[in-house]
Amino acid sequence: MSEFDVIIVGGGIAGASLGAEIADQRRTLIIEAESHCGYHATGRSAAFWLESYGGPDVARLSTASRTFLDRPPAEFSEHGFLRTRGDLHITRDDLPELPAGIEARIVEREELERMIPGIRPAWRRALFEPGCADIDVAGLHAAYLRQFRRRGGEVVTDSQLRSASRTDGRWTIGLADGAELGAGILVDAAGAWADPVAQACGVRPLGIAPKRRTMVQLRVGRAGLKDLPLVDDSAGTFYFKGEGDSTVWLSPHDEIETDPCDAAPEEIDIATAIDRFEQVVDWPIERVERSWAGLRTFAPDRLPVYGFDPHAPGFFWCAGQGGFGIQTSPAAAKMAAAVLLGEDPGPMAAVFSPARFG
Ligand SMILES: Cc1cc2nc3c(=O)[nH]c(=O)nc-3n(C[C@H](O)[C@H](O)[C@H](O)COP(=O)(O)OP(=O)(O)OC[C@H]3O[C@@H](n4cnc5c(N)ncnc54)[C@H](O)[C@@H]3O)c2cc1C
Repeated sequence: MSEFDVIIVGGGIAGASLGAEIADQRRTLIIEAESHCGYHATGRSAAFWLESYGGPDVARLSTASRTFLDRPPAEFSEHGFLRTRGDLHITRDDLPELPAGIEARIVEREELERMIPGIRPAWRRALFEPGCADIDVAGLHAAYLRQFRRRGGEVVTDSQLRSASRTDGRWTIGLADGAELGAGILVDAAGAWADPVAQACGVRPLGIAPKRRTMVQLRVGRAGLKDLPLVDDSAGTFYFKGEGDSTVWLSPHDEIETDPCDAAPEEIDIATAIDRFEQVVDWPIERVERSWAGLRTFAPDRLPVYGFDPHAPGFFWCAGQGGFGIQTSPAAAKMAAAVLLGEDPGPMAAVFSPARFG
């Protein structure tokens, strides 16, 4: 049986980024059930960094991640992962309230028409968040896996945890193919499967629930869209951003409860997205070029969970990254690594600890 200090279950952005932070200090293995890491939520995101997203506590992780994403250390990547486009929170009524300290300014109708040509009259004004940026998610995820391996970490794909038990301070992990692995610490970074993985390890689940979100790539009869700001409404019913010159990525902001699965879009959600989009701009819709769906996974309080389970020695949660797991990954991984390694994780760690669930 191969022995490790730490086995991380899940090779998405959560497992890869935490692994990259600890691999030079602990012999670490990532096991990934799929044939490649990033097949699930990490490979299906809308790929933006939006500082105000997720409320004040999540915003602190996003803010703390910005410099790394923009100007990573040279040994991590030769180039940054952000491309700034700004975000317009448009409204028919009242402007949204953003967490304190986030740079934003009010945009009145006249300027709004210049920023989004063809915007319908009902949208009276907006709050503009200039810092919003696209993230090169594939590049970031690959850089984390590269750093993980460079620091001695190992990754095995097509390798699914089925069960785990703990005796004499060590986990014995059973894989779907019948193989066994041993580790002192087991990290649950299984995304939508975080609770089922805990249960398979005999650990109390936390109520971490996946919710489906749909994305649509639309071709429209309007050019010059690539650099438009991300546009969302203050009521949280859609967002879209320019993708190509005449294409947009659009979401109906759906959040549909589901079991963990290989999520696929449903016609009704695509239709809802298009209906809402048509109420925002007068751009003629030419066709749906593609659509996809992914699972955003939330703890009951919608904050991520990082830390050792208070009732299960050696079981470490790295889960519940909701719709912000990419944009928070640098700061979250550093914080979680400090907790795991017994170093000072800073003041934010208590907020995200699983101990908050009792
Ligand atoms: C449509 C959509 C839009 C989004 N937009 C954004 C955005 O703009 N910005 C942002 O920051 N975030 C966004 N997110 C959220 C972000 O994608 C997630 O928070 C993040 O990818 C979660 O990463 P993860 O590693 O926890 O999960 P995943 O990427 O799902 O990885 C978990 C992995 O665990 C593996 N696994 C599960 N069970 C087992 C097992 N038993 N054994 C071994 N492996 C197992 C799975 O195969 C999977 O690969 C979006 C998500 C969606 C769905």
